[in-house]
Amino acid sequence: MLFGKFKGSVREGVPLAPYTWLQLGGPAKYLAEPADVDQLVEIVALASQEGISVRVLGGGSNVLVSDKGFDGLVLHLSAPCFEKISISDHSVHCGAGARLAHLITACVGHGLGGLEHLVGIPGSVGGALRSNSSTDEGDIGSLLTQATLLTRKGERIVVPAKDANFSHRRSSLDELVILDATFNLHPGDIRQLTKREQTFWIVKRSKQPNYPARSALAFVDLDGVSAVELLQRSGVNGLIEGNTQLNSSYPNYITANTGATADQVIQLLERAKKIVFEKTGFSLQPHLVVW
Ligand SMILES: Cc1cc2nc3c(=O)[nH]c(=O)nc-3n(C[C@H](O)[C@H](O)[C@H](O)COP(=O)(O)OP(=O)(O)OC[C@H]3O[C@@H](n4cnc5c(N)ncnc54)[C@H](O)[C@@H]3O)c2cc1C
Repeated sequence: MLFGKFKGSVREGVPLAPYTWLQLGGPAKYLAEPADVDQLVEIVALASQEGISVRVLGGGSNVLVSDKGFDGLVLHLSAPCFEKISISDHSVHCGAGARLAHLITACVGHGLGGLEHLVGIPGSVGGALRSNSSTDEGDIGSLLTQATLLTRKGERIVVPAKDANFSHRRSSLDELVILDATFNLHPGDIRQLTKREQTFWIVKRSKQPNYPARSALAFVDLDGVSAVELLQRSGVNGLIEGNTQLNSSYPNYITANTGATADQVIQLLERAKKIVFEKTGFSLQPHLVVW
């Protein structure tokens, strides 16, 4: 096997559906769960030498894997070294594979505030930075100091937050892998921060389908107009395509039911987008990244 040297860390023909929130899609030709950064760098170098495409999967809450799967190497930062969180004064250093929820809880537990409004957003810190996760209270990018990236050439570079070009659900952190990140947070009272976190959690839960629904955010808000508003104005709540549906209670979420396929999700997004455009003149863009 091509990645034989990395036995235990690289597997072949691995179904990706269980790694994603929608639980759809085919297998990856290779799935790597490297033990540390050095091994990650070696695996990426070999893939590059062999002309194999490489992608990174975080928590899988914003990726739709196509039914035929991905004919390349998928990196998954699941080893403990990618999930480390260390806190010193107001500065928090975090591996990109850490769950955003763990980061928030660790910070609140140390009396550091700023991230708690993001509670309830599924996925990893790397995924959150890549798409600049946000709520009405603000985005993750505004608290970042710097991030370390692994480039496609295998170099490690440090990008200061000012060069990450954060905007609504976007960043320019689009090198191959976000490895880790440093945040600057504000000191606060642990009890008050915990209360804030709990309140945001309750509000967030009331605005999205209940876990463990197989769901994903459908569209990105446009400048000044929310996707929910456009979907409601266009009457597409509850729109069905095969075994997938735009949730009728939470219009901007797609739900995958038993028997759903990735192709049905793509068709559903296209139909909803077309109807919204015909009825409102606005062109919605998918939130989900399609592989
Ligand atoms: C129920 C639900 C509620 C949600 N609510 C919100 C919300 O309130 N606000 C919001 O902003 N989003 C929300 N989302 C969307 C989603 O949770 C976010 O986009 C999240 O940050 C994705 O993180 P992830 O780790 O799951 O990324 P994935 O889905 O695994 O990947 C998403 C993209 O990020 C890239 N990526 C992931 N990790 C890395 C890395 N380490 N290095 C480089 N690239 C990487 C992937 O290649 C892919 O392109 C919601 C989704 C769901 C299902």
